[in-house]
Amino acid sequence: MSAPVKTLLPGATLGVMGGGQLGRMFVHAAQSMGYATAVLDADPTSPAGLVSHHHLAAAYTDTAALAELARVADAVTTEFENVPAPALRVLAQSRPVAPGADAVAICQDRAAEKAHFQRAGVPCAPYAVVDSDAALASVDAALLPGILKTATLGYDGKGQVRVATRDELTQAWQKLGKARCVLEQMLPLQNELSVIVARGGDGDAVTFPVQQNLHRDGILAVTQVPAPQVSAELAEDAARCAKAIAASMGYVGVLCVEFFVVAGADDSPRLVANEMAPRPHNSGHYTIDACDVSQFDLQVRCMAGLPLIAPRLHSPAVMLNLLGDLWFAADAHVAHTPRWAEVLALPGAHLHLYGKADARPGRKMGHLTITGATASEALERALQACAILGLPAF
Ligand code: ATP
Ligand code: MG
Repeated sequence: MSAPVKTLLPGATLGVMGGGQLGRMFVHAAQSMGYATAVLDADPTSPAGLVSHHHLAAAYTDTAALAELARVADAVTTEFENVPAPALRVLAQSRPVAPGADAVAICQDRAAEKAHFQRAGVPCAPYAVVDSDAALASVDAALLPGILKTATLGYDGKGQVRVATRDELTQAWQKLGKARCVLEQMLPLQNELSVIVARGGDGDAVTFPVQQNLHRDGILAVTQVPAPQVSAELAEDAARCAKAIAASMGYVGVLCVEFFVVAGADDSPRLVANEMAPRPHNSGHYTIDACDVSQFDLQVRCMAGLPLIAPRLHSPAVMLNLLGDLWFAADAHVAHTPRWAEVLALPGAHLHLYGKADARPGRKMGHLTITGATASEALERALQACAILGLPAF
């Protein structure tokens, strides 16, 4: 069974594969509704494990740990994209698992993901699968300049090389260990968006407002909602595409779809699906403080077979990611605590730290959501927060 068949009411135990910050915020949401929680993650100090009723500190492939998770949890979800699909299949023999292994497997593989976008009738960047010398040699020159991305295990811009010529492409593929890759045409992006959709076992689906995202060095830096440069028409189109992508794989749970906005034939903005994540997403963290139901609340509702309610944005918001670099802004060698007290003096500031002991450059340590009565108020205060923390303005 892959979809929850019965309603699990508060008091039941909800399990999650993965103990990172997404698992931690899921655990918080589940517990605030009165559920007990169980986390499977090998790290004894994982952010979610630290706050969960049960923490099984074992590998995702550990048979005994999977059996124990199935014993303590009444349903299981995932917070980590690369949870082995076979582990989810094992769990699904005895417990509802949402999202299911097949959908997670599609999201884990860029080639399968792009094929799925096309199946759902959603455009993606022109691409070719590079999995052999012959495939490399027959790559269409129109895909250059492009980005070579490993088909599996990439995140935060890792496992990606930008290539302008065939020679660079050959070198890049060697550099990536001749792993199965996707070569994507480099597109002139007007901006980047994402949409979070939650879909229940009955096929009912709701979406959050479209988010506009700014990346730095391949890592999400800023999310703004409402999306400042997005027309109502484009936002509606993004929501429709996200729902179609979820529905066409029978998805149950929370799914994030990332889009690029490019200029269409008549110069009007057009959506291109980039990738998707079978879980809540960093670009949806603002929903905790700015919406009347968060992406984590809906993750709980999906897996528990509870009704989904359409989210309402009650406050415009800006989310700033807080990476480990912030701890080294003043001195590259000595970590110091960022100026939280000054940031928290800003009206509408909501600080979220994930309980990670060591700050390291590039590591996601937390996020700051600034809500305001208006979008310009939220923006103004977010820029003040950037100045206090030493983050670049945007
Ligand atoms: P994530 O952490 O979101 O999973 P990722 O490492 O899987 O990131 P992508 O989302 O594929 O990587 O790419 C990271 C960023 O690189 C994008 O957000 C975008 O800014 C840029 N990028 C990726 N593909 C293209 C493209 N085809 N054309 C132009 N820019 C691109
Ligand atoms: Mg991405």
